[in-house]
Amino acid sequence: MTIKEYFSSLFKGLHSLIKGMEVTGKELVTKKVTEQYPENRDTLQISKRFRGTLQFIYDDEGYHKCIACKSCERNCPNGTIEVITKMIDLDNGKKKMVLDKYMYDLGSCTFCDLCVLTCPTNAIEFSNDFEQSVFRRDVLKKQLNYLPEKIKPTPAPAPKPAAAPAPKPAPAAAVPKDVAVDAPKAVEPVEKKPEVTPEPAQAAKPAAEAPQAPQPESENNENK
Ligand code: SF4
Ligand code: SF4
Repeated sequence: MTIKEYFSSLFKGLHSLIKGMEVTGKELVTKKVTEQYPENRDTLQISKRFRGTLQFIYDDEGYHKCIACKSCERNCPNGTIEVITKMIDLDNGKKKMVLDKYMYDLGSCTFCDLCVLTCPTNAIEFSNDFEQSVFRRDVLKKQLNYLPEKIKPTPAPAPKPAAAPAPKPAPAAAVPKDVAVDAPKAVEPVEKKPEVTPEPAQAAKPAAEAPQAPQPESENNENK
């Protein structure tokens, strides 16, 4: 190696070192985007669209909207949902099929959202709770209707309104006897006269034969 080659490689090395330190220096002063989980669990922001696990929607009184129609069960592509129903007697003596248990297996769910989209009453939704890790697979099978089932009281049928008597038709206006009401005369059909077709104008007759002109007298004299 010559002295020239030695200094050339030395400067190349220094240039590469400075470039690398430049990138490191930039990252030192830029804002950090890495999430420090689980230290930041209290302030962690998860997108609302993230599908963590299926859950029932309960209102403040502990009612849910599931009518046990099994539409979600039929539309689930991999048998993750099992809707178990039961028959109950209502106050009005009728029977009704209601939800008994809503079973969901998180271990086989593909989070496709078909069950939520096809539910006619919007009874279920996905929560964005992502902390679902457990040590046993059987724990992933959950009953989603965790509150005691409550049946809303059947509303009493509204009393029928009393049938109002039908209004009598108004009497026809009296017509005085002496006023004869002429029946409208039938319009007689107007006889249509046959159209007279004008005869074609007769050609003008040739004029009567013109009287012969008298012969000149000179001729008569010669003959004498
Ligand atoms: S998200 Fe898809 S796979 Fe999961 S329960 Fe609903 S329909 Fe089944
Ligand atoms: S969650 Fe919705 S689709 Fe499933 S059984 Fe209940 S009402 Fe039907």
